[in-house]
Amino acid sequence: MAQQYPEWIWQNGAIKPWREATTHVMSHALHYGSSVFEGIRSYATPDGAAIFRLTDHLKRLYQSAKIYDMVLPYSLDELATACREVIRKNGLTAAYLRPVAYRGLGGFGLSAETPIDVAVAAWPMGPYLGPEALEQGITACVSSWQRFAPNTIPAGAKAGGNYLSGQLIAREARRLGFGEGIALANTGLLSEGAGENLFLVFDGVLHTTPASASILTGITRDTLKTLAREDGIEVIERDLPREYLYLADEVLMCGTAAEVTPIRAIDGKQVGNGTAGRVTRRLQELYFGLFDGRTNDQWGWLEPV
Ligand code: PMP
Repeated sequence: MAQQYPEWIWQNGAIKPWREATTHVMSHALHYGSSVFEGIRSYATPDGAAIFRLTDHLKRLYQSAKIYDMVLPYSLDELATACREVIRKNGLTAAYLRPVAYRGLGGFGLSAETPIDVAVAAWPMGPYLGPEALEQGITACVSSWQRFAPNTIPAGAKAGGNYLSGQLIAREARRLGFGEGIALANTGLLSEGAGENLFLVFDGVLHTTPASASILTGITRDTLKTLAREDGIEVIERDLPREYLYLADEVLMCGTAAEVTPIRAIDGKQVGNGTAGRVTRRLQELYFGLFDGRTNDQWGWLEPV
């Protein structure tokens, strides 16, 4: 089926038709991966469409840009407005938002001071890891590709070039028939999924890998940590060896796109009893409860469109 695109996109300060949002083939980002971006979801809530943790996502966009000396020509408020406009103009409520800032046309050297172009797209998106993923869980494998070492490419920046690593991990997993790939860090310890953070459950306690394990410290990861602690579930950030994936009572992946996805088997070994466990179900309830009103948003995470 041909890909369907929404009608409108925001680019460099103006809303324009999707097909007109083009960029030059000699743009720096296309050759060198010099873009920074975000993935954000909006949800239909009882109080209308709301963007989940929009401000936190945009703050991370500016942090990613800072690491690469990219000065965005728009303020955070201007980009927040652009995000809202793109959702409204396309008549969307539940959607995935993609702000991207990139080095455009203006020099071919690696350190060229190019203009920074910015765009925001939005489109409807269901569960990222497949229609049954949230209910039934997915299978995963440990990738033969490691994450980049912390002194090579900073995993804490959500930069385009990082996703060459993610593509290798995700494509290998799918080629081998798994739902997603999990990577080890250069230390040999667990890092994260191709585009998701990891939580393991042992005896009702959540364990997640630390920033030093070459992960993107996800906003969903932070959300789940907060919701769990509020609910009396202990959360520990720690180094985790690979075999803990096979020994955990429950394993889940989380991210803006993946939301809260149970993993039912890893490397062909069943996780727990092979279905979403008690803690995973509780986290799903609390997480999705934010959007249907069952979980009180005491943090002001839902930002109205
Ligand atoms: N790790 C990687 C590599 C990712 O691409 C993502 C998705 N942005 C995440 C983790 C999860 O981050 P978040 O919860 O902020 O979407």
